[in-house]
Amino acid sequence: MSEPTEIRSKPVKAKVRRTVLKAGGTLLISLFSPLPAFASQILAVRVWPSEDYTRVTLENDANLKTNHFIIKNPERLVVDVEGIDLNPTLKSLIAKIQPNDPYIKQVRVGQNRPGVVRLVFDLKEEVNPQVFTLAPVDKYQHRLVFDLYPVNPPDPIAALIEKGQWSLDKPNEPTMPPPVAEVKPPFAEPKPDRLPQVSRMLTIALDPGHGGEDPGAVGRGGSYEKHIVLSIAKRLKAKLEQHPNMRVMLTRDGDYFVPLHVRVQKARKVQADLFVSIHADAFVQPTANGSSVFALSEKGASSTAARWLANKENAADLIGGTNIKNHDKQLASVLLDLSTTAQINDSLRLGKAVLNEIGGVNRLHKNAVEQAGFAVLKAPDIPSILIETAFISNPEEEAKLNDDAYQDRMADAVAQGIRKYFAKNPPLAKGRMM
Ligand SMILES: [Zn+2]
Repeated sequence: MSEPTEIRSKPVKAKVRRTVLKAGGTLLISLFSPLPAFASQILAVRVWPSEDYTRVTLENDANLKTNHFIIKNPERLVVDVEGIDLNPTLKSLIAKIQPNDPYIKQVRVGQNRPGVVRLVFDLKEEVNPQVFTLAPVDKYQHRLVFDLYPVNPPDPIAALIEKGQWSLDKPNEPTMPPPVAEVKPPFAEPKPDRLPQVSRMLTIALDPGHGGEDPGAVGRGGSYEKHIVLSIAKRLKAKLEQHPNMRVMLTRDGDYFVPLHVRVQKARKVQADLFVSIHADAFVQPTANGSSVFALSEKGASSTAARWLANKENAADLIGGTNIKNHDKQLASVLLDLSTTAQINDSLRLGKAVLNEIGGVNRLHKNAVEQAGFAVLKAPDIPSILIETAFISNPEEEAKLNDDAYQDRMADAVAQGIRKYFAKNPPLAKGRMM
């Protein structure tokens, strides 16, 4: 590959030789070969563009070593990957960069020297690259991940306003609702345009589970949980926003992975009044069926099944893949410690209201809101529930989940549950969240 001469990376040959020497059995071969004895194979390449960040994943049969650096004017990210040779799969990356990718203009791929492939990402703006590897998990082998985060990320609310997806609080309106005894239930009226009694905008964070590298559960018919839950969340968003006092923030609006703690952060950034995570359940037995609603628990799960499910959903970060070194561990522990009984009680109330409505759409898996340690429900100051809309592992329910009418009825039911919750539990004034 012809690159400008200003590119200077450390000589890699010596390192490669050392690696090969360490691998005892391959010693003899390596002495006679200019290449590492076992060049790794790139098995798959995937690109997940989003406004948050663009991810490029190289899946391979061994853990790969890399060296990366940024070159300015124009902005480029150069990654040298050791121990691989160029193959058609890797070359296919070039065609996978879409013209509308927010951060990558194009990528060039070439054999830099024997055993080293160089990737050059021509960038649309300054990025903060995170290059890391993920150990094999689930259906994936070794993954080498490049996450390209913008150096100057857009303000989330400003971005929503720009897209026309954010209604502002009306000025000169009281921030406190009138005393409860005098207030009419804000959602008792059937017509959305006649329900302005709520004194401020209510912000709902909707969280479609999984996304990107993490497909979530996969049905026997081949449907992906991540696609179904995004579709239901978008329907629900539209229904909630029919009400002039409600606005909705989606923790993801495309097919990309959002780490669990980032979902919580996003909800807190917009000072959400509620957090509703949307999923589809799965179990080994195809007969398992029904919808369920979960809240956080303080003292352990309400059942073995709930604990099992929480563990499964919490594994999303492993499958979706996060740069652990970069994790804001401190924040994660703060969130954990601050979780309050009040949040859980509110969440249970919200859960009950939603469960009641869902019961009119699908059989309920359990008749009560269950509790377990779901990482995504840990915003200490936001009532948070996780809805398993149905079992994607049950062929009959998988068909329902793919059905527009069912998705719509499910979204209607959740919206109705949320309205009834607010009617009974008038929201507090803003400013309570630090
Ligand atoms: Zn899920």
